[in-house]
Amino acid sequence: MTRSEALFEQAKQTIPGGVNSPVRAFNGVGGSPLFIEKADGAYIYDADGKKYIDYVGSWGPMILGHNNPQIRQAVLEAVENGLSFGAPTELEVTMAEKVIEMVPSIEQVRMVSSGTEATMSAIRLARGFTNRDKILKFEGCYHGHADCLLVKAGSGALTLGQPSSPGIPEDFAKHTLTAVYNDLDSVRAIFAEHPEAISCIILEPVAGNMNCIPPVEGFLEGLRTICDEFGALMIIDEVMTGFRVSKSGAQGHYNVKPDLTTLGKVIGGGMPVGAFGGRKDVMQFIAPTGPVYQAGTLSGNPIAMTAGLAQMDALCQPGLYEELNAKTKRIAEGFKAAADKHGIPLSINQVGGMFGFFFTEDTNPITSFDQVTQCNMDHFRHFYHLMLDEGVYLAPSAYEAGFLSMAHGEEELELTLVAADKAFAALKAL
Ligand code: PMP
Repeated sequence: MTRSEALFEQAKQTIPGGVNSPVRAFNGVGGSPLFIEKADGAYIYDADGKKYIDYVGSWGPMILGHNNPQIRQAVLEAVENGLSFGAPTELEVTMAEKVIEMVPSIEQVRMVSSGTEATMSAIRLARGFTNRDKILKFEGCYHGHADCLLVKAGSGALTLGQPSSPGIPEDFAKHTLTAVYNDLDSVRAIFAEHPEAISCIILEPVAGNMNCIPPVEGFLEGLRTICDEFGALMIIDEVMTGFRVSKSGAQGHYNVKPDLTTLGKVIGGGMPVGAFGGRKDVMQFIAPTGPVYQAGTLSGNPIAMTAGLAQMDALCQPGLYEELNAKTKRIAEGFKAAADKHGIPLSINQVGGMFGFFFTEDTNPITSFDQVTQCNMDHFRHFYHLMLDEGVYLAPSAYEAGFLSMAHGEEELELTLVAADKAFAALKAL
């Protein structure tokens, strides 16, 4: 038994399923999860001392790679001043100004401590502002685990086959309407049924919780038009895509302007952070200026703000996003070339620092939730473990996007593609 396996057995005695977040349990791929001891650059190190090239990056935030020296140094200095004050700090003002500078649609912003809090609060604000109860989301999109958002959700909920969670009263769930991602007709049909009841549309601008699905041309613009027509707010959830797809998020990349934006892990540089922001007139509706209540003891925590600011400053280096895009493209296209070489049907998607690969014979671009659910999951599970054996750590579910970092250098990219070549060959031989 490895030390990871022993720790997993021990963990299951005291932690439900042995993990503090479900996708970590390897339910999507089978087997026992790796327990991680440390991480540095492009690598994570498990409890058995084995190192892996990491394509999870703490589920997105590690754009500069693990344990980045600038962020580490900034955090070590900030710790000297105390861990939390529960009172305003200059750091929070600097953070707000930085977010507003980078994402032009955001005029005011409020910090929270997770992506879940960000989306939950943005939705409460949209409901309060519009005085409407219903929300519209897309099947397969994940926006955290607030009650109203665990309806036909993606990510771990989907991996575990429980996209709509028990524990959410029907009376709550009935206000969440779900449409088909990349299908404007499905959105229009729902608005036609409830023309004056929908407070907002919330969406992932590149869906990253049902693998990696970019928006088809006209989808984001079409949603903007529908929102304007029916008086609903458009909430773009950039918890995953913010500062990963481009310096100004997916909204900058695709040139669409939401009313509200939610941000998460990336602006914490690895610390627990989230944020929601947008139009000033809407944000003024939040307490203490407005009537919609929202709060947090640790919101804007000084250590988290310091880590996030150090990361965001580093992300503003010229040429960074071009390089991140090129590296990610190389991995996605390299996987496809290796699969082709060994006669394994594979499709790929890639936007900025995010990528996805699909074991499918479908030769059309993969743009829908239905196409993702029809992929060959056995192939994925085998490939996953073959890559792990080769020292490459991918997201342990076919419903998650892959992430690269700036610390993935030539050597790591090459090693990954050599591993993929071997893994596809072994998959073919099974
Ligand atoms: N929105 C999106 C798009 C996400 O990907 C996630 C988490 N992966 C969340 C919200 C929830 O964030 P958190 O896990 O920090 O609550």
